[in-house]
Amino acid sequence: MLKCREISQMASDYTEKTLTWHQSLGYSMHLLMCGHCRLFVRQLRTTVAYARALPEPEALADSDVAAVVAKATSGNEPV
Ligand SMILES: [Zn+2]
Repeated sequence: MLKCREISQMASDYTEKTLTWHQSLGYSMHLLMCGHCRLFVRQLRTTVAYARALPEPEALADSDVAAVVAKATSGNEPV
C-alpha cells in the first residue's frame, strides 16, 4: 500500500490522470482508507480549478514598465 508521502508526491499525476492503471488503483485504495490524503487531494483539485479560472495576465507595454520602474526607484535616493 502506498504511504501518505507517496500520495502527496503523486498527487499531480493522479489529478491529471497520468498514472498507470495499477498506480491509480493503489492511489484510490489509499484514498479510501486515509481521510488526510482525501482532504489533501480535494484541496489540490480546488486550487488547480481556481488557478485555471484566473484570467491570463496582460503583458505591460514597455512604456508602462518604464513608468513603474521610475516610480519604484524615485524617492529611494540616500539621504
Ligand atoms: Zn494518507
